[in-house]
Order: sequence, then structure tokens, then C-alpha cells
Amino acid sequence: MKGMITEIQRFSLNDGPGIRTTVFLKGCNLHCKWCHNPETILRKKELHFYPQNCISCYKCVAVCPSKAHKKIGGEHHLYRNLCIQCGKCADVCYAQALQMSGQLMSVEMVMAEIIQDKAFYLDSGGGVTISGGEALFQKDFVLALADACHREDIPVAIESNIAFPFSIIQEALDAVDLLMCDLKIFDSEEHKKWTGIGSELILDNIRRLDTSGRPYILRTPLVPGVTDSDENIGAISDFVQSLHNLLYYELLNFNPLGDGKYKSLDKPNEFVQARPLPESRMQALAGIAGGKGFEVRVA
Ligand code: SF4
Ligand code: SF4
Repeated sequence: MKGMITEIQRFSLNDGPGIRTTVFLKGCNLHCKWCHNPETILRKKELHFYPQNCISCYKCVAVCPSKAHKKIGGEHHLYRNLCIQCGKCADVCYAQALQMSGQLMSVEMVMAEIIQDKAFYLDSGGGVTISGGEALFQKDFVLALADACHREDIPVAIESNIAFPFSIIQEALDAVDLLMCDLKIFDSEEHKKWTGIGSELILDNIRRLDTSGRPYILRTPLVPGVTDSDENIGAISDFVQSLHNLLYYELLNFNPLGDGKYKSLDKPNEFVQARPLPESRMQALAGIAGGKGFEVRVA
């Protein structure tokens, strides 16, 4: 069993309780236009090019089987349409101007990383978080990895957009200790405009999740001009008020750090100008959600 992984991040403090290792899987069923991890959207491997790191050694030109790298007039050109994602150029690029996203890893390979910090998980109430991209896009790998973690007594959480048939959510619930899911936009047309699908399936899954008796957290990523309106947070809060078994609701401030990755992949970033919300606005939105009988957190 192998999964397509983009990164294994150790000592993570923002992906669930305690000290955690977060495993980022590659591939997503939604296409949120503000995504700050653009390399996790496609399931296939991708080549990043950071020209500012290039030292003009042209080893990439020599090894590329597709002639995707060319030196023309003393300048380095990358023809992405020729690239077959073999990774040979990144292997020889010691300046790290070329880097591959996406590595097929077995459960055993991932566990070898995870196990190194077992003592920290147990001391801090932490564990492993499986994230993405979309974790459940590689459901079978997630189930196998969760099983391997539990055999080591390591708790497992997953982050998911839960835009799947509920039977898949149920399998995940049975396999992990905590589900952290997003509710980004309440209005279905707006949800479709910004993510590619309407909100009905997600809302319905949250209602079913709430009756499952399993622990879960709801979160809204705050994206300037998209999810951060009083109306959206108000509508989501009214919906959350109807739930009974939520651990807490969390507002996540905008993360602007994806722009370098967009550039390195030659992909447009519609949110290049967007910045995190000021603390006063975060507190104002928390105030809209607060006082309704559920805990609100801000991150
Ligand atoms: S191998 Fe790396 S440093 Fe060398 S020319 Fe290619 S991109 Fe630049
Ligand atoms: S990943 Fe392979 S095919 Fe693509 S540019 Fe690098 S060497 Fe060429």
C-alpha cells in the first residue's frame, strides 16, 4: 500500500491537539481558489522551479530525457509541456532550484518518520494528523496508516473537506480518533463558485457526523472577500448552533504563504494581494459566532 505524499511535517502545533506529525497527501476533490498548498491539488507529481536559486550549472539540461530544460542565449528555459515528471533534474540540482512535489511512500516508510517522535505525542496529548490536499482522496492509504499508528498506540486525526458519500466518512470515523472538517461557505452557489461544488453534501454530512457520536471539530478558513463576511459567519454559526456533539468551532486566519509555490509551478494565484485579517476583525467574527452555546476558537 503506497500513498502519494507531498510532505511529512514534524513538531506541528496547529493541526490538532498536542505535538503532532502532519502527513500531507497529494490530490484533492475540491478546487478552492485560495488554496495555500497548490502543489497538493493534483494527484500526480509536479516540478517546482525556483529560478532565483539557479546557479546555471545546466546539469538539468544534460539529464532530462524529454529535453524540457534548454539553455538558449545564456538563459535557462523550462518547457513544462515536455516534462514527464521523472524527477531526474531535481535529483541533480544541488542548488534546489528544481524540486519535485509528490513521492510514493509505503505505510512502513511513513511510519519510520512518525515513530521517531512517539514520546512527544504521548507526553503532549498529540499524535498524527493526516491532511492534504484531501486526506480521503486516498482513503485506503489513510485507513492503512491509521491502523499502523494505532498498533503503536499513536492517536490519529484527519483533516477533511468531507465532500464525499457518507459511507466513506463513516469508514474514516471508524478508523481515526478525531475528524477536523471544514465548513468554508454556507451559501451553496457561493460555495460552488469558489470551490467547484455546492455546500449541500457537506452540510448533510455534518448533520450525520453529529449523530455519529464520534468527536469532531468544524473550522472555517477566513479568506478575505470570500468567507470572512458577517453574513457567512452568521449563517454558519446558526447552523452550528443546531448541532449537539461538536467539540468546538474554529476560525482560521488566512494563510498567505502559498504565493512562492504558485510561482514555482507557473500557476496563477488569484489571492496574491490577500493578507491575514487583523486581530480586531478576527475578534469581531468570533463575536458573531460566540454566545450561541458552542465553543469558538480563533487561530
Ligand atoms: S540543475 Fe538546477 S542550478 Fe543547475 S541549471 Fe538546472 S536549475 Fe539551475
Ligand atoms: S522532471 Fe524529468 S522530464 Fe521533467 S524536466 Fe525534470 S528531468 Fe525533465
